[in-house]
Amino acid sequence: MVILKSTEEIEKMRVSGSVVAGALDAAEKAAKPGVTTGELDDIVRKYIESRGAKPAFLGYNGFPASICASVNDEVVHGIPGDRVLEEGDIIGVDVGSIVGGYYGDSARTFRVGRVSEEADRLLDVTRDALEKGIEQARPGRHLSDISHAVQAEVESHGFTVVRKLVGHGIGRNMHEDPQVPNFGRPGRGLLLRQGMVLAIEPMVNAGGDDVRILDDDWTVVTIDGSLSAHFEHTVAIRENGPDILTLNA
Ligand code: MG
Ligand code: MG
Repeated sequence: MVILKSTEEIEKMRVSGSVVAGALDAAEKAAKPGVTTGELDDIVRKYIESRGAKPAFLGYNGFPASICASVNDEVVHGIPGDRVLEEGDIIGVDVGSIVGGYYGDSARTFRVGRVSEEADRLLDVTRDALEKGIEQARPGRHLSDISHAVQAEVESHGFTVVRKLVGHGIGRNMHEDPQVPNFGRPGRGLLLRQGMVLAIEPMVNAGGDDVRILDDDWTVVTIDGSLSAHFEHTVAIRENGPDILTLNA
C-alpha cells in the first residue's frame, strides 16, 4: 500500500532531507586520498547528531554504521572501516536520517582525486539518469516512466542499470511501497499522485548489470569487477511536479 503524505508531512521530510544533504556535503569535502571510509562514517554520524537527528542506517537490520560506503566495483551497502581511499577511486556514500519520525535518504558517488575517463563519465551519466527519472515524478505519469527514463539515459551511454536492487517509497519508514525499478517500459504500473514520496536511486555499472553479495552479507559488488555508481534523492510528487527533499543542507 502506498502511503500519501500531506504537505505538512512533506515539510517534515524536507527537514530530514536537509540533514542528509548536509551530511553528504561533509562527506564530499572529506573524501580525499588517505582518508578511511570509517573516518567518513564518523564525520557523517557527528554531523547528523549535531543537527539533532538520528542516523537511519545505524542498527537498521543490524547494519553497523551510519553510512554505506561503496568503493569502485562495490555497488551499494558497503560497510565503512579501515579501507583507505586512494587517488582515482570512486566512492558511493549513502546516508539516511530520521527527524521527528520522518526519514530522508540520499546518495552520491564522489571522485577521489583524479579519476579515469570511464569513471568520470559513469558518475556524470548516473547523476544525469537520476535527474531524468526525477523529471517524470509528477501527477499523471506512471511509475515505470521514472524507471524507463533512468534506463534510457544509462543505456544510451553504453552503461547498464542494476536490476536486482530498486528504489522505494519513503516516509515514516525508510522502505515503503512502491518499489521503484531502474528499468522498464514506459506508461505502466502505478499512476503517480500528489503526496507520494519516492527514493529514486539509479545504480549503474560500467560493465554488465549483474551483482552479488560478499561474505559480509551486506556489500553488493559487480560480478565482472567493473565500476559502479549510485546517486539517490528523496522526491515528493507535488501538484506542479517533483520536489527534491534532499537537495539543500
Ligand atoms: Mg539510500
Ligand atoms: Mg534508498
